[in-house]
Amino acid sequence: MPQTQARKSKQTRTMRHSVDTRRKYSTFGVIMVILGMMSVLLGFRLFGFEAEPVIQIPQPTVLFTPTVSSPVLSSSASQPTDSAPHPLVGIVAGHKGYDPGAVCADGLSEADINYAVAREVVDLLQRRGVEADLLDEYDDRLVDYQANALVSIHADSCNIPGATGFKVARVTNSAIPEAEDALVACLNQEYAVYTGLPQHPASITDNMTNYHAFNEIHPSTPGAIIETGFLLDDRYLLEQRPKVVARGIAAGILCFLDK
Ligand SMILES: [Zn+2]
Repeated sequence: MPQTQARKSKQTRTMRHSVDTRRKYSTFGVIMVILGMMSVLLGFRLFGFEAEPVIQIPQPTVLFTPTVSSPVLSSSASQPTDSAPHPLVGIVAGHKGYDPGAVCADGLSEADINYAVAREVVDLLQRRGVEADLLDEYDDRLVDYQANALVSIHADSCNIPGATGFKVARVTNSAIPEAEDALVACLNQEYAVYTGLPQHPASITDNMTNYHAFNEIHPSTPGAIIETGFLLDDRYLLEQRPKVVARGIAAGILCFLDK
């Protein structure tokens, strides 16, 4: 039957065609697999991929080790500035802990006047960021006392009518005359400004220039002694205005510390 034969022949052709097609596809698949493997071996370049670049991270090289520690990093400098070393000043309350000093007829003592002024001076200095020691006349701490300054506060006798004024002195044989002269000059200048009292240099005695504490403190500590006024004629200022007296002394010390 020609129709049947023709159909068989057509079926055979179709089968051959599909076999050929399968062969073509399988051959194409093998080629693709080979190309794929080659592209893997060539670093994906055939398919447009770029191999992940290996990023070289350079290791930091320590060129040197600092031999001098940075002040910014050192423990002392890392603290706030207000904890930086403060100047230290010793204030002697004249005669305190030893004797009354000069005494007026009604019992007013120089030691009490000196102590009231000395406490105010210490308070004023501390409020200005200066460390201040309040010392007795023969304080144990005076031996080899090291500070930016030492000032001893006294007042003059109560038995000379008409005598008024103040004076400041340093030790005669000074190891640091320039510094001690500067301290004396500052005290003279500021005390006069604050109290309005005149200087009374004629009454500077050996007791002042050879004052015992000058020979006890460390030679590098500038020292001065001030007689703040006479207990008789300057009594009102010394007894009733101790803060004014103290301001004059504290200002003199601050003047010296500023230099
Ligand atoms: Zn005295």
